[in-house]
Amino acid sequence: MLNIVLFGPPGAGKGTQSQNLIDKYKLVHLSTGDLLRSEIANGTDLGIKAKTLMDSGLLVPDEVVIGMIDNKISENPQSEGFIFDGFPRTVPQAQALDALLEKKNAPLCCMVALEVEEQELVKRLLLRGKTSGRPDDQNEQLIGKRVNEYNTKTAPVADYYKTQNKFSSVYGIGDLDEIFNNLCSAIEKHRVK
Ligand code: AMP
Repeated sequence: MLNIVLFGPPGAGKGTQSQNLIDKYKLVHLSTGDLLRSEIANGTDLGIKAKTLMDSGLLVPDEVVIGMIDNKISENPQSEGFIFDGFPRTVPQAQALDALLEKKNAPLCCMVALEVEEQELVKRLLLRGKTSGRPDDQNEQLIGKRVNEYNTKTAPVADYYKTQNKFSSVYGIGDLDEIFNNLCSAIEKHRVK
């Protein structure tokens, strides 16, 4: 199995590059943002509670997203691997993911991060907001809050994987194919370890 975390702030290009990695490595895509939006669309209790936080640019509680990931891993027993997109976003989430993958005897291969400057993130998210219909992409103040949540709660997750020697970063601005090739090289480097 090949299990990868694709990391980076909102607007770094995780969605786009996830798709490329899924095609290449035949992975199951697990995006907690997508799963939460689907709960909202289905009007579930979980979705209703999560929406208030998401619309305020804040993270939803760890136990909510950990539960969703646990279910999705169990629903895909034949998978050749998973790509985690937008998860883990806190150190307790990373610890929970390690425990879940340990149960499957398939530890995380690596976390690969897309690095993009904040100014570019805001520009990209506002542009995406014109077509995504996502309220959290349409307001510069809200985008600022999401980036702040990332800097305070999510960025430490990189250190968590650095101490395990499972972290690599790739510059996320420029030619998409080149960024993809750099991500693949980083993954291959960790795979042969
Ligand atoms: P995303 O689609 O990854 O940008 O996520 C959109 C929103 O969903 C975030 O701003 C959070 O409110 C929530 N969210 C997504 N993934 C997580 C996570 N792993 N932990 C906590 N909140 C999350």
